[in-house]
Amino acid sequence: MERVRDLRQLPKAHLHLHFTGSMRPATLLDLADKYGVHLPDALTSGTPPRLSATDERGWFRFQRLYDIARSCLRSPEDIQRLVREAAEEDVRDGSRWLEIQVDPTSYAPRLGGLIPAMEIILDAVERASRDTGLGIRVLVAANRMKHPLDARTLARLAVRHADRGVVGFGLSNDERRGLARDFDRAFAIARDGGLLSAPHGGELSGPASVRDCLDDLHAGRIGHGVRAAEDPELLRRLAAHGVTCEVCPASNVALGVYGKPEDVPLRTLYEAGVPMALGADDPLLFGSRLAAQYEIARGAHGFTDAELAELARQSVRASRAPEELRRTALADIDAWLAAPGRTRPTG
Ligand SMILES: [Zn+2]
Repeated sequence: MERVRDLRQLPKAHLHLHFTGSMRPATLLDLADKYGVHLPDALTSGTPPRLSATDERGWFRFQRLYDIARSCLRSPEDIQRLVREAAEEDVRDGSRWLEIQVDPTSYAPRLGGLIPAMEIILDAVERASRDTGLGIRVLVAANRMKHPLDARTLARLAVRHADRGVVGFGLSNDERRGLARDFDRAFAIARDGGLLSAPHGGELSGPASVRDCLDDLHAGRIGHGVRAAEDPELLRRLAAHGVTCEVCPASNVALGVYGKPEDVPLRTLYEAGVPMALGADDPLLFGSRLAAQYEIARGAHGFTDAELAELARQSVRASRAPEELRRTALADIDAWLAAPGRTRPTG
């Protein structure tokens, strides 16, 4: 007999989840039907598409699927439904706090412009938080395929909405394009406005991209960052400064960054003392949500319940959640670990 604690009951914070990517597959089908959008088989088959983002064509294909899914979000009601369902899924997976990432620019054309889009998104977040009891905040993410001036506009917009739930500023899309440095002014605006710097790095590109995030954008957290594992000196730096990597194992495998769950260097980061916050990234496209990432740590990397509890603590500590919520979540993590697991027969 072995004791196994339910990872859905383990309190945690979810710090890496993209807006459209959080959608339930059934909701996408519904919305596509409502608007007469033809979905490619990759989005309707019920199994996650095989993508290989290690080459630019594969990444382009991933972006195209994402764009089609996003094109089904056209009204404030659609946005509200998306956020409410994302919150419900998170609650089911033991999340106490969600920081959802969005580039409002890409929703602006259908929602009446950039500022209205931002307002609609923040309204939806407030409402979903009230309805589900989950603490939710927003990271505004610039797109590195666009002009750095666009990023500055977004950074100002993000800062102006800091009192309405924006807590951080990110940078997403293909790390192999452009330089992090091109976006340094935008990130300076965000940081001066009190926002956390949380750009993507160390996913499609190697350790150098993580160093760029630290040196040029003063990242307080790194989206992914897993490929820091290739550079011991960088690992020491991340650990010394307590820079959390938002690691998304299922996404890494789905996008071909690593061949299989066992290859995601969770152990390397953990043993090096680099804090991690496991995240689902884009459940719509990758087929798994928050608790499943902890299952990968357990199943593919042999993390014990004590280590899984520590991962959960790291996610809570790296969050922008208010002190009171962090304290409660950390106490509940201890309680999860202290309680005996359900007993189940083995073999
Ligand atoms: Zn991401």
